[in-house]
Amino acid sequence: MSDTTGRASAAPFTTTVLGTARIGPRRELKRAVEGYWAGRTSRAELEETAAELRRAQWRELVDAGHDSVPVNTFSYYDQVLDTAVMLDALPDRFAGADDPLDRYFAAARGTADIAPLEMTKWFDTNYHYLVPEIGPSTAFRLQADKILAEVAEALEAGVPARPVVVGPVTFLALSKPVDGAGTPLGRLDELVPCYRELLAELADAGVGWVQIDEPILVTDSAADLGSMAERVYTSLGAETHRPSIVVATYFGDPGCRLTSLSRTPIEGIAVDLIEGSLETVSGTPGLADKLLVAGVVDGRNVWRTDLDKALGTLGTLLGSAGSIAVSTSCSTLHVPYTLAAEDDLDAGLRGWLAFASEKFREVSVLAGALRDGRAAHAVAFTECKTALASRATDPRLHNPAVRGRLAAITVQDATRAPAPERAAAQRERLDLPVLPTTTIGSYPQTSAIRLARASLRAGEIDAEEYRSRMRSEIADVIELQESIGLDVLVHGEPERNDMVQYFAEQLDGFFATANGWVQSYGTRCVRPPILFGDVSRPQPMTVDWTTYAQSLTDKPVKGMLTGPVTILAWSFVRDDQPLSESAFQIALAIRDETIDLENAGVGIIQVDEPALRELLPLRDADKPEYLAWAVRAFRLATCGVRDDTQVHTHLCYSEFGEVIGAIAELDADVTSIEAARSHMEVLGVLDEAGFRNAVGPGVYDIHSPRVPDTQEIAESLRAALETVGPARLWVNPDCGLKTRTTGEVVASLTNLVAATTQLRPEV
Ligand code: GLN
Ligand code: ZN
Repeated sequence: MSDTTGRASAAPFTTTVLGTARIGPRRELKRAVEGYWAGRTSRAELEETAAELRRAQWRELVDAGHDSVPVNTFSYYDQVLDTAVMLDALPDRFAGADDPLDRYFAAARGTADIAPLEMTKWFDTNYHYLVPEIGPSTAFRLQADKILAEVAEALEAGVPARPVVVGPVTFLALSKPVDGAGTPLGRLDELVPCYRELLAELADAGVGWVQIDEPILVTDSAADLGSMAERVYTSLGAETHRPSIVVATYFGDPGCRLTSLSRTPIEGIAVDLIEGSLETVSGTPGLADKLLVAGVVDGRNVWRTDLDKALGTLGTLLGSAGSIAVSTSCSTLHVPYTLAAEDDLDAGLRGWLAFASEKFREVSVLAGALRDGRAAHAVAFTECKTALASRATDPRLHNPAVRGRLAAITVQDATRAPAPERAAAQRERLDLPVLPTTTIGSYPQTSAIRLARASLRAGEIDAEEYRSRMRSEIADVIELQESIGLDVLVHGEPERNDMVQYFAEQLDGFFATANGWVQSYGTRCVRPPILFGDVSRPQPMTVDWTTYAQSLTDKPVKGMLTGPVTILAWSFVRDDQPLSESAFQIALAIRDETIDLENAGVGIIQVDEPALRELLPLRDADKPEYLAWAVRAFRLATCGVRDDTQVHTHLCYSEFGEVIGAIAELDADVTSIEAARSHMEVLGVLDEAGFRNAVGPGVYDIHSPRVPDTQEIAESLRAALETVGPARLWVNPDCGLKTRTTGEVVASLTNLVAATTQLRPEV
């Protein structure tokens, strides 16, 4: 092929993925990096582990038959941080660290006296990236060492390497301005020369194709993303000394931005055909001379691909593009490595799933079928058909009792009496002092707790012994809270490994993997449960622990549940029904739990929804519908209780932005939120949105080991009182205490109670 610039372009490839995980199938990189931080692992050992993981990943892809392999998708911590380093755009405060790797980790995690970069969610996934800071003095300069080293390593190993970088538009759109700088996207023209230089160096290194990731093109985060991308890629494409370029969009539909890209001289475009639409691609003129990298295998969910359907999609696309490569919709960073590591899967479920390794093979089969015809791969297609048929007819997917219940739901089921009426009934029943004090749920995860959990897993102790150890933890936490003088107690959540997995393990319709680790940020991994069937609750999940805690004290103990949206957000979800349907099913299970708690005498129940904002769709047009069902699911979960039962909710952030109206509509009796870091400003925002129920602004930041003193908590409370008034104000930390030490917790809560006691006579 040769393009309009007259440069010879590389031959198109046919079989690939947009990226892969890097933490290692057994989390080898996590261990090596954490060992390096702790001084247990040498630099050489760390680098060897990393190199081995890269080699193993490349080999797997080559063995699966891929003819183009993503490289530079390895990262010691995060690919956006890698990009900031590549552009020499780290803030000056890290300049003190001479060693590049130590500087890198300082930016990622901070040091004793330097704050790290902020962390936030990567689009609508559960991966978190580090937010680059762009100040007036930030000057961009290419530092291509990492990417060139990985490319050389791959080419030397005979791997058909396709280096991957975060693109300039996405990089700047995800950055935040600091020190009075204007919007980072205003600096786009300064980045183009860096990328141009990078392209030249990659061409010198012998690279045929480079992948430039621009997922920002599927969002509405800035108005003129399409024209910005067109300007950048027209300019980069005009260069003759460069590899062929494929610009990757993913996580959604690029819409008209695809047309903008198609007008540029780039040689390839990757599109997400799972979250995006086929019509967009078929309807885009100007793809006829390009390689279309068709993401027909879902890169971020765990379901087996319907090969016939995918092949049909590919067939439809044949006429639209110059050539087609089969790919995943996005990097497989977001799914576990392999099904082979799961021993407890029943044959049915196993057949319905595909983790990363299985997806690599699906891509190969599809590319093979596109090339040689379906018949040449009939075995794989037949196997797939059988597995999918068994999924469609499995009784676990269609529980008539659950479906019947949902069909019979009325508006009444999601409605309680007006809030003031409830408040009166609750005052009567609970008789709490003004400015009630409480905590958000968890207490420190002590080594005794971790040991008990590990021993149970290893079969060294039985369920009865485990239960008695947890009870003794609960007793300790109750005693601690009584001695500190808190008003509303909690049981401390010692029995919960994780606030979603704990419930998923007890609900029918979920499967909890044994080794399905996925990177959440840096060295932190999570094991999202798989929601595969209709959800029901075989038996109460929390009643026993909560009533035990209540039996030890005369103070009210707050029951503690996770809300439907958060359970969904932190799981792999069904792809055979709308998300809202799954949310309502989970809501019914949580509702049953609230009613059981109420019947067991529990007067206060908290339903956490820290992920309410996380699931917000990327496109503005989709947001109202999401918020409507999210609110409905929460209300379905919480409106089954009596007026005198007090419903709390907890949200882990203070920048409410687009979800503020929804928070008011949740209509919880008490809402606890993060406010410490924004000096209670959030209360004014809530007030303006018409929020009139009780609120517990977090009066200190539990994310830091710092113990707040009594005076500063009192000041926060005074500030809060000005906006909220005494009748609606609760006093609590801004999140659960699980990551803190007991010493820090005792000191902080003692000051919290002292500040409250000091203020009560004034109100
Ligand atoms: N109840 C949970 C806890 O205290 C809430 C955690 C969260 O907000 N993420 O740990
Ligand atoms: Zn929280």
